[in-house]
Amino acid sequence: MTNFDRQITQWVEQTPFMDTHEHLIEESLRLSGALDARLLPCDDWAYLFASYVAHDLVVAGMPDAELRNFLGPDLSSEAKYRLVAPYWDRVRHTGYAQALRHTFRGLYGENDLTAESLPRIAEKYRETVRPGFYATILRRANIERCQVNSVQRIFMETEQPELLAQDLDITNFSRCGAVDFTRVENETGKQPTTLEAWLDAIDFYFATYGPRAVAVKCWIAYSRSLDFSPVAEAHASQLFLRHAGKIGSTSALCSEDLKALQDFLFRYCVDKAGECGLPVKLHTGYLSGRGVMQLARIRDNAADLCRLLQDFPDTRFVLMHIGYPYEKEFIALAKHYPNAAIDMCWAWILNPAASVRFLKEFLLAVPANNIFTFGGDYAAVEPIYGHACIARRGIAQALSELVAEGWIALEESPELIERVMRGNARRFFPNV
Ligand SMILES: [Zn+2]
Repeated sequence: MTNFDRQITQWVEQTPFMDTHEHLIEESLRLSGALDARLLPCDDWAYLFASYVAHDLVVAGMPDAELRNFLGPDLSSEAKYRLVAPYWDRVRHTGYAQALRHTFRGLYGENDLTAESLPRIAEKYRETVRPGFYATILRRANIERCQVNSVQRIFMETEQPELLAQDLDITNFSRCGAVDFTRVENETGKQPTTLEAWLDAIDFYFATYGPRAVAVKCWIAYSRSLDFSPVAEAHASQLFLRHAGKIGSTSALCSEDLKALQDFLFRYCVDKAGECGLPVKLHTGYLSGRGVMQLARIRDNAADLCRLLQDFPDTRFVLMHIGYPYEKEFIALAKHYPNAAIDMCWAWILNPAASVRFLKEFLLAVPANNIFTFGGDYAAVEPIYGHACIARRGIAQALSELVAEGWIALEESPELIERVMRGNARRFFPNV
């Protein structure tokens, strides 16, 4: 390490992150230990593997049934260790696993998960989960505040609004499937059967939560392409009647008609976001999970988005996860469209080396105000610590290389670091 490198590393360490994307469940749920198959499948150290190391374990050969037991509530700590050990060695170098190793090191004082360290890690997990531990861990990670896309509610009225800003999730409104109807019904007590009633529900959410939200979030890219065409309301209204009449069984709509209905609903939500002054965060690129991703569709994400960026020039879009593995196209989008910003959330652990290259190329191609460099993308708070270590290391490496190669002067670095780690997000998002 040169003196320059050391100086840059120090600046990056000292600068707080504004964390622009997490899925944190409420701290009270973690403290209660109330198990829930989706939100808290077990309450021991194995829970920290659920996002995202679990996927790497299966890809490395772990049978699904073993993973279910590993993440379930029934096995002892030792039995869980015996299940995971053969695969841990295979995945330990991936970004997902490195984030967890940093977490073990920084929060638990343990260098690795081994048969010998296991009892202490199990105990440290339990000791850590106590009132106020979200704030404690985020402070240790030098994170100023998180933006949370709740997995519990469309908009979470959090117990800790100063620490956890909230997104309004529009995925249910625009995807319009059976689970989406159920969720809207559970939260509002209403059962919309017409397009008008569905739009009333959307209006209700924007009116009630819009003023407190930090952004709207949509992850519809998990189920469809991102080309949203204009659709007349009268047409959408007819489609909705046919669709809602059969919801719960197979949809009455062919895939083309369902796409048209979703196009209308998504664009309606984007309009509402514009009215409320809320940026629109979109999942782009790689899909979490295993065995399901259709790369051909994801490859078109950047190209598909051009229409949206043109049709809503006054709405600010945040394109998440750098569109990995098509991140170069996202640099082109952000360079060309004034209303496109890129969020590096999740990217550092998907592929740390690609993320370093991305940041270097972005800074030499795109105005520096249009990037946010950190979001852990976790439901658990602990691994955010480890992910932030990796992101800081990557940001320092990218800046050091740009300085060493003569592209950026050392003296320019502190301002740039403050901008990409915190300042951009502070200026860009409302209610921050
Ligand atoms: Zn996410």
